[in-house]
Amino acid sequence: MNKKVRVRFAPSPTGGLHLGGVRTALFNYLFAKKNNGSFIIRIEDTDQTRFVAGAEQYIYDTLNWCGLTPDESPLLGGNFAPYKQSERKALYKQYAEQLIAKGVAYYAFDTAQELEEKRAAVANFQYNFQSRMSMKNSLTLSKEETEKLLKNNTPYVIRILMPANETISFTDMIRGEVHFNSSLIDDKILLKNDAMPTYHLAVIVDDYLMQISHVFRGEEWLPSSPIHILLWKYLFGLENMPQWAHLPLILKPDGNGKLSKRDGERLGFPVFAMDWHDPKTYEKTIGFKERGFLPQAFVNMLAMLGWNDGSAKEIFTLQELIEQFSLERVHKAGAKFDYEKAKWFNHEWIKKMTTEELKKPVKNILLNITNNFSDEYLTKVIELVKDRCTLLADFNQQASFFFKSPETIDIAAIQAKWDEKKKIFFEDCLQQFEAEKNWTAEELEKIFKALATTHQIKIGELMLPFRIMLVGEKFGPAVFEIAALIGKETTVKRMEHVLELMKK
Ligand code: GLU
Repeated sequence: MNKKVRVRFAPSPTGGLHLGGVRTALFNYLFAKKNNGSFIIRIEDTDQTRFVAGAEQYIYDTLNWCGLTPDESPLLGGNFAPYKQSERKALYKQYAEQLIAKGVAYYAFDTAQELEEKRAAVANFQYNFQSRMSMKNSLTLSKEETEKLLKNNTPYVIRILMPANETISFTDMIRGEVHFNSSLIDDKILLKNDAMPTYHLAVIVDDYLMQISHVFRGEEWLPSSPIHILLWKYLFGLENMPQWAHLPLILKPDGNGKLSKRDGERLGFPVFAMDWHDPKTYEKTIGFKERGFLPQAFVNMLAMLGWNDGSAKEIFTLQELIEQFSLERVHKAGAKFDYEKAKWFNHEWIKKMTTEELKKPVKNILLNITNNFSDEYLTKVIELVKDRCTLLADFNQQASFFFKSPETIDIAAIQAKWDEKKKIFFEDCLQQFEAEKNWTAEELEKIFKALATTHQIKIGELMLPFRIMLVGEKFGPAVFEIAALIGKETTVKRMEHVLELMKK
């Protein structure tokens, strides 16, 4: 019988969400939706020392921004609630005890100080098959001594007993057969002395109880997988185990190692999905959202980091990704992050989106300038400048002159080729514009060109000064379109202002 597809994204709320984390969420989501399955959010917060206020909400906000709507989550609930591990604390201990009863885990009573001393005395100390018999644990103590310590509430942890020299294998859906030598893995703690499980125990118990069918997670978890395989075998039998897929790393632009938050700071691009303000360090980390990425472009770009549909197609909607997604096409090798390419995706998306769809995000950007404009005016502005914007934030610069007078005016660019003839041309032009009733781009262009002919000046020499009068600089869409949209009064005012400046 085929199991129902149930996948989980299981972040730890320890800070902002790295784009690799969002990609893990995305691949989980795509696989679930493609297979009519459920996409579950589970918050893995058993390590209380790493708890950061606001990080959990940030995760929900990010998923919401990206449009990755879960079917079950701490907020939504579901048949397998609670979905936050700290609220499931009481569940885990019995499994750790079952492992002890089976002889595959043990109590360890070594104090922090004893462990410290050991580490100081033995280089690269590992609590493992070689050292465990020289430590203070239920393997080295007598049954009575262990019971006594437990009865006296002596602090302890429960560790897995990693067998020596066994090969642990499983089939990864992306990597195929993978093998590990158990001797290289230490006796990981499963239950801590605050009775909280560690990640290793909690992940197995919860994947089992929540009936997870497939696990998609980052490649950095591959070294932990043999521990998880053993725990599955000991606790629930391998036949119930989900299938594993370890997603390729997202690499630094030069391919040398995993992309980190620091790389983004060093190279000047975002690595987190949204802005993150660390409440402990007050550090602010910039996000894709606030840099001006559309969620559609961000998600599209992430999907292409480690996957393609086998063709040259690069632009996909979320719905198309769901339809096309296949694990066979996820690469094994890490994917280099390229910020220029990320921006290219955004540019393509801005061009692809309808003006109607762009209105809301652009309106938010323009709030920096004004909110005093009509819907019709905004529509026209977007149509004129959208092709020139790579990031949403570019609307600020590309469109600001539609809403307010240019702050600076590149007078030097006009002065370079200014003469009496041009001055008279613009004075005439101003007069004719003022008298014009039919204020359209075509009409203005006609007047402008006819006048140029009368004054015997090449039109090319007049366009730049005119543009600078309206925009302040040498950029922007067709200049008569600008004049038409900002209206007669504003056009005339800006021309007069610059002509005045030219007199000085
Ligand atoms: N809590 C782990 C993390 O923060 C999840 C690993 C997993 O999906 O098994 O990445």
